[in-house]
Amino acid sequence: MNGAALPPAIWTTGTTEAIKTGTWRAALPVYRSAPSPCRAACPVDGRIAEWIGQAKAGDLFGAWTTLTDHNPFPAVTGRVCHRPCESACNRGAYDEPLAVRALEREIGDLALAKRWRFPQARLGKERVAIVGGGPSGLSAAYQLRRRGYAVTIIEASPALGGLLRDGIPPYRLPRAVLEGEIRRVLGLGIDLHLGTRVASTEQFLELRAQYDAVYLAIGARKQKRLAQLDYAAPWVMDGAAYLEAANTGAPPALGKRVVAIGGGSAAMDVARSARRAGHEVSVLALESELQMPAQREEVLAAKEEGVRLVDGACLKSVAANGKLSLHCVRVDFKGANPLRFQQIAHSDFYLDADAVIAAIGQDPDLSGFAGLLEDDALIRTDERGATSLDGVFAGGDAATSARFVTQAIGMGRDAALEIDAWLTGRIVERVQRAPAVPLSATNTFYHPKARRSETLAEAARCFSCGLCTLCDNCLQFCPDMAVRRATGGYTIALEYCKGCGLCVQECPTGAIVMREETK
Ligand SMILES: Cc1cc2nc3c(=O)[nH]c(=O)nc-3n(C[C@H](O)[C@H](O)[C@H](O)COP(=O)(O)OP(=O)(O)OC[C@H]3O[C@@H](n4cnc5c(N)ncnc54)[C@H](O)[C@@H]3O)c2cc1C
Ligand code: SF4
Ligand code: SF4
Repeated sequence: MNGAALPPAIWTTGTTEAIKTGTWRAALPVYRSAPSPCRAACPVDGRIAEWIGQAKAGDLFGAWTTLTDHNPFPAVTGRVCHRPCESACNRGAYDEPLAVRALEREIGDLALAKRWRFPQARLGKERVAIVGGGPSGLSAAYQLRRRGYAVTIIEASPALGGLLRDGIPPYRLPRAVLEGEIRRVLGLGIDLHLGTRVASTEQFLELRAQYDAVYLAIGARKQKRLAQLDYAAPWVMDGAAYLEAANTGAPPALGKRVVAIGGGSAAMDVARSARRAGHEVSVLALESELQMPAQREEVLAAKEEGVRLVDGACLKSVAANGKLSLHCVRVDFKGANPLRFQQIAHSDFYLDADAVIAAIGQDPDLSGFAGLLEDDALIRTDERGATSLDGVFAGGDAATSARFVTQAIGMGRDAALEIDAWLTGRIVERVQRAPAVPLSATNTFYHPKARRSETLAEAARCFSCGLCTLCDNCLQFCPDMAVRRATGGYTIALEYCKGCGLCVQECPTGAIVMREETK
């Protein structure tokens, strides 16, 4: 084809603003406010895309400030959280999930090394008592004190930390880290009554009368017991008692062969601590290995350290004639809530042992509140975390069977927000959360595949799902120049946007979505 056959070129040297392409539109791009899947899965509702974005930009103090707005213990959860955020991460279906927990630990550790502090808060008149100084009580104390409440923690033990101290062993959670983060919360000015147990209804009612509101975070510290074991026998020990002793560096003297019973975190910690104390250790778990409620990494670490796993089996009886013989049988485990399993016929076997440590779970000890609070083994609360007694809220292990540190921290935060609302007469609006931003909404062309790292460099792999990063892609790609910069983001000029959706296609983070135009 030669030049003479081409149609005449059409162009303009003037403005195109007279061409109002907005009238063609059937759909409209909208900058949305939807959570990233990691945030939707995080029990503390962490603003993960936001703090990772700050870390990516090199603002590590800003990242720590955003992170600790919801969770004052990033160096702790950066070590022990069961990391549901990573299971939900959009990057998981692309190459590998982001190492969010490792990033959280890096930032938490940096803050401890740099001695970063929380800003001091004013002290108002209203007083809130918190019963229990574990992660849930401490999280509520932190959130309430920051909002100006005078907070008192009443704790039965001589030290704060709950199961972070009495349960989780120091090789998983170094005590300097735990103490550093607790000390920083106390630095806000929190009144402490240590070594004080709320042990009777009279004591509790007196406490309620002295304070404007109470948060009960007493955990679940009453060990469940196995009917097959004689707990008075010297060769039987509770998992909690064993760990309390082992965690202080003085594990009790037991014989050579120890059998730990249970499939959760507590049983893994018992087994690994006993292994470190020099015992030959077997774990007897009802669940098959992959069904065990302990974090997978704990099970693998225990096996690597030489713990023998006897999974999918239960104890029938114990014969103690000079030496212990544990009569066991294989089971088909069907579920935990309610507990369902079936013994497999003719699959009996025997384990020799010198001691048995049972770590099969805990219930809350509600004896000090008998008859006052509605309960069904757990303290019963409504969706606000409020109990049946006016002004009394509850959370953490005492009120849920989801027994995780971050669950306890998140419930402490939620309760603090509800207590604040209750005391000020405000109503916490329960906004129906938008569904999390899916992988399909992000443009992965802008995110080259990359291997996961356990350092701060990992921040660069985050897709920032659902968060506008002001990258200007929408502005650059819009054929009608309908995207305009605005404070903190962009706006769409409605008279020019023809609804082509290019901005949505080119957004690397899924922060814009097309909505049907309704006129
Ligand atoms: C061995 C073990 C290992 C674990 N490992 C992990 C893990 O790796 N990751 C994870 O996410 N979760 C783990 N968990 C679970 C986690 O520790 C708990 O879910 C979490 O600590 C619950 O926090 P809480 O504040 O509700 O209760 P707790 O931590 O139990 O704290 C409750 C506090 O209340 C105090 N108290 C109780 N009754 C009274 C009273 N009447 N008066 C005054 N004070 C009282 C107690 O002394 C205690 O300090 C583990 C649990 C165990 C047992
Ligand atoms: S607290 Fe747990 S779930 Fe939340 S961001 Fe940290 S590691 Fe993820
Ligand atoms: S890529 Fe980043 S923002 Fe998206 S889900 Fe994973 S951690 Fe969250």
